[in-house]
Amino acid sequence: MENLVSTVLSLAGVRKTYGDLNALDGIDLSLPDDSYVSLLGPSGSGKTTLLRVIAGFETPEAGAVSFKGERIETVPPHQRDIGFVFQNFALFPHLSVEKNIAFGLENRVENPITDASVVKSKVRDIIGLVGLAGLEDRAVTQISGGQKQRVALARTLVTEPALVLLDEPLGALDANLRTRMLTELRRIRERCGVTFLHVTGSETEALAMGDTVLVLDQGRIAQAADAETIYNEPKSVAVARFLN
Ligand code: ADP
Ligand code: MG
Repeated sequence: MENLVSTVLSLAGVRKTYGDLNALDGIDLSLPDDSYVSLLGPSGSGKTTLLRVIAGFETPEAGAVSFKGERIETVPPHQRDIGFVFQNFALFPHLSVEKNIAFGLENRVENPITDASVVKSKVRDIIGLVGLAGLEDRAVTQISGGQKQRVALARTLVTEPALVLLDEPLGALDANLRTRMLTELRRIRERCGVTFLHVTGSETEALAMGDTVLVLDQGRIAQAADAETIYNEPKSVAVARFLN
């Protein structure tokens, strides 16, 4: 069955430098379609830089980034069909839950949706999917951290990206809520069927979430495997140390 798994994103030899620092030092990876992928690495290992390169906010000095079979290094972020959920949520404080979610659809550069009833219906579907029904008119300053996380996710999903990047999405939540949101994120991903690339510094989070786990160490992929393999057969001392 292996050859039936298709790849949504692949990177080959991707390098990103800041001065004389190799933030990404020859990254090779491939993300399967319709799957949950965790990207695990200590602080400073290059996780955010990798997401920013994939999203198009940074241009790599070398290497290839292919998305749905096409090279995208020179494609601007808004034309990539890739969603980004930021760690701090980055919501608009003066807008309601519903308006925050609708904003990207109505105001995007490519193909903005001008028909209010279409926007309304798409937003309603996503609100149901992420479990925010009943809170549509609430100000985002008057909802909990977990609810803000759902708004941030909904705002990305409503644009129907083919890949969703999440940068330490649960970092701002307390421990109880984090566990609940892990389950929710898996459920939401399964229902929308797109690949999530979830960045985390927490090995428990990565191993619990990822169908595939990528371990990043000093700008290189130290190991890419399913969670059980990473846990039982760490490929290098760096990976083993990080898991302890
Ligand atoms: P992580 O998200 O895993 O904590 P980052 O991708 O943010 O790591 O950073 C990787 C390395 O690149 C770090 O050493 C960081 O200091 C450096 N770095 C990141 N962004 C910049 C930047 N804009 N300018 C200079 N150095 C940067
Ligand atoms: Mg980071």
